[in-house]
Amino acid sequence: MIDFTLSETQDMVKQMLHWFAENEVRPLALEADRTHQIPMEFIQKVKDLGISMGGLPKELGGEGDGVGGGKDKGGVKQGNRIAVIGAEELAWGDPALILTLPGPGLGGPPIAIMGTPEQKAKYLGIFKAKEPKWGAYGLTEPGAGSDVAGIRTTARKDGDHYVLNGTKCFITNGARASWVTTFATVDATKGRAGHRAFVVEQGTPGFRVGKIEEKMGLRASETAELVYDECRVHKDALLGGEAYYEGKEGFMGAMKTFDTTRPMVAAMAVGIARAAYEKATAFAKENFELGRPIARYRHVEELVARSKRRIDAARLLTWRAAWMADASIANAKEASMSKAYAARTAVDVLADLVQVMGAAGVMNDQFVEKWFRDIKVYDIFEGTGEIQRIVISKRLIANLKSF
Ligand SMILES: Cc1cc2nc3c(=O)[nH]c(=O)nc-3n(C[C@H](O)[C@H](O)[C@H](O)COP(=O)(O)OP(=O)(O)OC[C@H]3O[C@@H](n4cnc5c(N)ncnc54)[C@H](O)[C@@H]3O)c2cc1C
Repeated sequence: MIDFTLSETQDMVKQMLHWFAENEVRPLALEADRTHQIPMEFIQKVKDLGISMGGLPKELGGEGDGVGGGKDKGGVKQGNRIAVIGAEELAWGDPALILTLPGPGLGGPPIAIMGTPEQKAKYLGIFKAKEPKWGAYGLTEPGAGSDVAGIRTTARKDGDHYVLNGTKCFITNGARASWVTTFATVDATKGRAGHRAFVVEQGTPGFRVGKIEEKMGLRASETAELVYDECRVHKDALLGGEAYYEGKEGFMGAMKTFDTTRPMVAAMAVGIARAAYEKATAFAKENFELGRPIARYRHVEELVARSKRRIDAARLLTWRAAWMADASIANAKEASMSKAYAARTAVDVLADLVQVMGAAGVMNDQFVEKWFRDIKVYDIFEGTGEIQRIVISKRLIANLKSF
């Protein structure tokens, strides 16, 4: 039986992060969007407060599983639920700022899943430092986005080293990251079985940052191209070591990451949609047409009611996927369901709520205009909506188990 009454810890995180989002994050959002810059003082502040994107494993003084949070009253871990609750609140504040929180980010889970104790200490240990640091996740390539099996970045063995050649694109925090978990193939003819995961540190000869992308939304979040040109990494940077890879472990490590991160992405989409809902409904109550509040027009009532219904449904799917992860129940299908539904729904909700506000909704001193631009990417990154639907239907039809 699923009970979504918040535990004391979950509620405390929600209240605390909501306060932070309202008072520290939201006031910076429009300016950060305009300048494509997040002030360093803000980043240092979140670091000092211990707010991060991804946590540390137990052996490094963290709370385990990369998310922490202990257990709820029923004895079930609650780190994934805390993560989605926190992600909704912070994205409510601003989605670009949350993607820039210091920490291992999406690059962390593959290290936690596949890494040796030494690799975890080396690459995740850096986040104990007082100054902000980032990790990044390098999977997507020109020509290999949804088609993950088609990655063409090569890893050639050369003595005790591997030599990487290829280009990764659209990598979040790719330029500011201390290291990038980089997926490459040792043999492209083997498809998924050829995949390996390396941790490539900034400053490694042959590794450089290419262009920084200009985007429609999430403008203050850094999206970088990364170039590997005869980039030599020691075999110690191969996650799990050579013996770890008997079959498709590299590919599965890349995919398993998403079982916990897709609900996070869904939660962010819910946070943005909720923020827009609050703005638009306040607007509809305060603004009048033909002598009555906009909120009293039937069409507006329908848009508002539909938005709220969809936001709540998206949150429930998200919390279910996070609860399953906490309870160690395979959740790949439910994680994809939450991501597919929340992202698509939030895109529709934003379109409806901009409509509710009329011209005010498209003015760029209004948050709703920004969120309308920000939200689209949620239906694209971490697997497009179409790919989520394939993941879901494969599991439904073929009754495949989670990775
Ligand atoms: C802001 C941003 C941040 C990102 N951050 C990262 C990051 O940190 N690390 C990283 O590795 N990547 C990152 N990405 C990349 C992201 O994961 C990819 O953009 C995404 O996987 C889609 O790949 P693509 O853009 O190549 O689109 P494509 O795969 O080319 O898809 C184009 C269209 O074709 C559809 N399509 C493709 N294949 C199929 C299929 N088999 N069946 C049905 N439809 C299909 C898609 O759904 C889509 O509509 C980021 C992207 C953005 C925009």
